[in-house]
Amino acid sequence: QPLVQVNHLCKYFHISRKETLKAVDDVSFTINKGETVSLVGESGCGKSTTGRCMIRLYNPTKGEVLYDGKDIMKLSRAEQKEFCKKVQMIFQNPYSSLNPRMTVKEIVGEGLKQHGMSQAEVDAKVEKLLETVGLNKDHMSRFPHEFSGGQRQRIGIARALSVDPEFIICDEPISALDVSIQAQVINMLKNLQETMGLTYLFIAHDLSVVKYISDRVVVMYLGTIVETAETEELFSNTLHPYTKALLSAIPEADPKKAKANERIPIKGEIPSPINPKDCCRFAERCQFATDRCFSEMPKLREVAPGHMAACHLIEG
Ligand code: SF4
Ligand code: MG
Repeated sequence: QPLVQVNHLCKYFHISRKETLKAVDDVSFTINKGETVSLVGESGCGKSTTGRCMIRLYNPTKGEVLYDGKDIMKLSRAEQKEFCKKVQMIFQNPYSSLNPRMTVKEIVGEGLKQHGMSQAEVDAKVEKLLETVGLNKDHMSRFPHEFSGGQRQRIGIARALSVDPEFIICDEPISALDVSIQAQVINMLKNLQETMGLTYLFIAHDLSVVKYISDRVVVMYLGTIVETAETEELFSNTLHPYTKALLSAIPEADPKKAKANERIPIKGEIPSPINPKDCCRFAERCQFATDRCFSEMPKLREVAPGHMAACHLIEG
């Protein structure tokens, strides 16, 4: 049984009597224990909303999220408490997610105190956690503003790790960081996964980082999944026009390869998710769109073993 099962998840926001923003619209995927699954798409595609539904920050409009086989919205009080420890989130902006008036010791130790540790135990554990993320005990009495962006993200990670989680949702954890720092944080997340047996959902807006960290990739567009496959398969046998476009947007360092990779432009901006039409949501921006694409929504179906795509043009 997968550790996490997202089944036909929908999250709608009713904006007015006639307007419904369908942030997430019938999304299903699973995450096995010890795996990293990446959720990729442009901002506004519903990936963060999906992540928030998976940590009980949002109540789904329809569908369900199962953790260890249990619907996370139907947990008993005791199970909720357990869930809050097992599932943690790391946020995109490490600054706004850290309380500026709390010291590092207070920030990282907050969850431990809530779970009934003594101050001495908390101090010892915070010190160890800071070492785990490449900081040290001299940092304990300092405040978030005294740190660089990369260090602040390390503090956020130490906080997430403090309660010995099983599953961490990383919501664009490196997007706000300098490129030079990004690889360090990614490598650290990978090492932590190995040593602590963690399972990750990794949310990202492009495919470049995802290649190195994920076992499987789920590509979202305007609230729906357009393609999902194991990472190798997705990169070597890319099928959906949207995934192809995302892939061709990654800058290629090798000029020979850059020439070989035809660039597939995406026309215009991501459309509004308010009252989406019942057709392919990518149709307006897809260079391959036909009449059928504007009148019928393509179903997500298996096109190769473990490889699913939603496009009328893909045989399988
Ligand atoms: Fe493009 Fe049509 Fe496929 Fe949608 S269904 S991605 S519009 S070809
Ligand atoms: Mg987001």
